Amino acid sequence: MKYRKLGRTGMTVSEISLGCEHLQGKSYETVKSVIDRARMAGVNFLDVFMSEPQVRTDIGRALAGKRQSVMIQGHIGACWVNGQYQVSRDLEKCKFFFEDLLTRLQTDYIDVGMIHFLDKPEEWDAFVHSETMEYVRQLRASMKIRAVGLSCHDPITAKKAVDSGLINVLMFSINPAYDLMPKEHSLIDMFEGKALDFSACTPEPARAELYRACEEKGVAITVMKSLAAGTLLSRERSPLGVEMTVGQCLRYALTRPAVDAVMLGMQTPEEVDQAVQYFDLPEEATDYAAALAGVRMFADGRCMYCNHCLPCPAGIDIAAVNKYLDLVQLDGKAPESVAGHYLSMKATGGDCIACGACEKRCPFGVQTVKRMARAREVFGA
Ligand code: SF4
Ligand code: SF4
Repeated sequence: MKYRKLGRTGMTVSEISLGCEHLQGKSYETVKSVIDRARMAGVNFLDVFMSEPQVRTDIGRALAGKRQSVMIQGHIGACWVNGQYQVSRDLEKCKFFFEDLLTRLQTDYIDVGMIHFLDKPEEWDAFVHSETMEYVRQLRASMKIRAVGLSCHDPITAKKAVDSGLINVLMFSINPAYDLMPKEHSLIDMFEGKALDFSACTPEPARAELYRACEEKGVAITVMKSLAAGTLLSRERSPLGVEMTVGQCLRYALTRPAVDAVMLGMQTPEEVDQAVQYFDLPEEATDYAAALAGVRMFADGRCMYCNHCLPCPAGIDIAAVNKYLDLVQLDGKAPESVAGHYLSMKATGGDCIACGACEKRCPFGVQTVKRMARAREVFGA
């Protein structure tokens, strides 16, 4: 297992973490076996959004005496009404089901208190001034939650939340299909299985702007939907029309800016074993570039951070330089943290000797020589 600092929260979490949603409806024995196997494999971060009482109770039982060994993302606003899951912003309901979460998990704190599933900019604007947001602030002040998060699928809403300075962690849906979602379409189109013509469209720029804002503000991203609900694993179901493996999807998500953990839904101990095998796979087995290179929409010179272009005679980590350059704002200003990361690299764009070897190897037609020169101009090295 590998670990990353969770933004500026002071927590350190496993790169592959456990999304517990598929444990709902399973027996206690299964819940316990999955959590035990995950902990043994080094997983130390769990997402518990489900409001269904039994799964909460079973996770709490499985963690009894081991609470300190894991960190939990628990959601505020996931409620259970008339035997069904429901999202609510109502203060009393949010309070009741957050306290229910603490009780059933047998704990008195949650590591990341996630404002649950808020996807509309106007809803965020209203929520900021609501009594439920005040409740979230009180939870943070009393250390019942150690950090504030938001779970969201919409980049514009998420960026508003990041820019507000009110959240420390963003749970966001990330995979190649969503990242290259044409701006003429929405995730709803994709969820509804509409045929999308990626090749004729321009990718939605709001997602890149969101990642840039997260880097700048030190907001950690925890990833949901890294497999696009499994559709990316099948050529027939994938909106991209190519088949990817779990390892390729994981590597894609883990190489996006600001991402610190992928919350992978695992429902058996065997699935935990398969997921953590990721760290033992050879580079070529997780090389998402190989799968995506044939997709027409990718042939537009966008860097996919795959490092297929190495080796570089100047020792430049080309993917990293490209990633930091993509985080620079349109006005050419680099967020301080991004500049710091860039300048700490042992070789930078300024070391490029313009040999062009990388461009011949890049499957995505990236004009790296120009981009290295641009990086030197922006970062001054
Ligand atoms: S320049 Fe091309 S090969 Fe290199 S990291 Fe970017 S997409 Fe991959
Ligand atoms: S063109 Fe620059 S970045 Fe590319 S391989 Fe040559 S020295 Fe490295």
